[in-house]
Amino acid sequence: QESCKYTGMVEDCCCDYETVNVLNEEVLNPLLQELVTTPFFRYFKAKLWCDCPFWPDDGMCRLRDCSVCECPENEFPETFRKPSNVLRKEDLMCQEGKPEAAVDRTLDKKVFRGWAEVDNPWTSDDETDNSEMTYVNLLLNPERYTGYTGPSARRIWDAIYSENCPRYASGEMCQEKKVLYKLISGLHASISVHIAADYLLDEATNTWGQNFDVMHDRVLRHPERVRNLYFTFLFVLRAVTKASDYLEQAEYDTGNHEDDLKTQSLLKQLLYNQKLRAACPLPFDEAKLWQGQSGPELKQQIQKQFRNISALMDCVGCEKCRLWGKLQVLGLGTALKTLLSVEGDNHLNQPLQLQLQRNEVIALLNLLNRLSESVKLVHEMAPSVDKIVGQV
Ligand code: FAD
Repeated sequence: QESCKYTGMVEDCCCDYETVNVLNEEVLNPLLQELVTTPFFRYFKAKLWCDCPFWPDDGMCRLRDCSVCECPENEFPETFRKPSNVLRKEDLMCQEGKPEAAVDRTLDKKVFRGWAEVDNPWTSDDETDNSEMTYVNLLLNPERYTGYTGPSARRIWDAIYSENCPRYASGEMCQEKKVLYKLISGLHASISVHIAADYLLDEATNTWGQNFDVMHDRVLRHPERVRNLYFTFLFVLRAVTKASDYLEQAEYDTGNHEDDLKTQSLLKQLLYNQKLRAACPLPFDEAKLWQGQSGPELKQQIQKQFRNISALMDCVGCEKCRLWGKLQVLGLGTALKTLLSVEGDNHLNQPLQLQLQRNEVIALLNLLNRLSESVKLVHEMAPSVDKIVGQV
């Protein structure tokens, strides 16, 4: 219990709030803001209609302000359309048959071998699931107030919290049991921050702006939510830095060489940033998890719960909310897979190679950007986050 108390460090993480704020404002946020505008990162592939597997459609689909503007075929990069770019599952299997792979360390070190088609065990949505997915330009569909509220929205959050990631008891020692709740609560806080930051202030004049009351009511006056937001940010940041080699070597081909060079350059600046590595080398230490006897069982259980949360996104009754819900849950699932499923999962006790789908990487970096924006907004709008998080 001692270790869970607020001490200046983000709970269960390895950096303090002040360092996070400085790094975010000076390094992460400016780079991420630019990165998500590149053609590679701004097109997300998603299945957007309602086919809720848990309860009948509650008729909330297609509310005003909710609908998403989909991209016409000729808009998104051609390379995204060609399946030839994607390695088949067999190509990603063991390379033992190839003599050079057995001894050549450079092959081992080359972590990226093409975008994967391998299912993410943490999520129910996969890029390769079916052909009925559409590409969406995220820049045209900002996450903001949509008017989606009432029983439909409440039902989703209730189902998430009550069935899939119950709030842990205040004396809970087991970090694994807390992780899922904290990640979801952090994401929920971030969604609320974006709603408050871009709110329809006056419907008659279509005036948009920051709504401080909403921000305060839903986030700032709940220190636990602010702490969970910082926790989620550091968790996802750790996943991105852990996947640095893979992400650096990945292909960002959109057919425009100049754009692609820019994407790679921004990513490199983010992944190998000296300031970040010096001030917060290990944002979250995943090696501490799953050490106990019940580790594997717990991991399975949490994975199942997270898959349910992912499936629940099909029940979100507002298209734009569903888009961002799906993207961010996929991003979290990608972070969970990167941090918790890559090593030690096979019985040979050898690290499994990280394999990511293109959509997973797009979701991961866009999620990090959303969280980074929320942390920045909370820091700006709260007189002192340190005071807020220290209250509990
Ligand atoms: P809600 O945010 O609905 O919260 C419900 C209950 O959950 C609260 O009463 C509280 O007990 C608990 N709670 C709230 N925040 C936290 C937290 N951080 N940690 C732990 N518990 C918490 N609306 C939009 O306008 N734009 C969007 O883009 C959007 N995206 C959404 C995406 C998803 C996946 C979902 C499920 C909903 C989305 N919504 C969106 C709706 C929005 O999240 C709210 O549900 C809605 O605005 C009503 O808010 P509320 O104040 O009733 O509380």
